[in-house]
Amino acid sequence: MSRYDFRRGYECPRCEADTNVFRDPATGTYGWVCPVEGCRAVGFGFGSRRLARVGLREYRERFGTRGCGSR
Ligand SMILES: [Zn+2]
Repeated sequence: MSRYDFRRGYECPRCEADTNVFRDPATGTYGWVCPVEGCRAVGFGFGSRRLARVGLREYRERFGTRGCGSR
């Protein structure tokens, strides 16, 4: 079970690949970004890794309700 290993990143809400979690030294905030080319899902400006996880979940919910194919 690696569900609680926050250092390895999160699952991308769009393609479920492993995202990269980073910390922005300029603002002291956390974010995540999907490394998959063509996906470009990203979130940033979170106050902690936990908030980044919450933000990722919200991203997934937003994306899920909108559905695919809008572009
Ligand atoms: Zn992705």
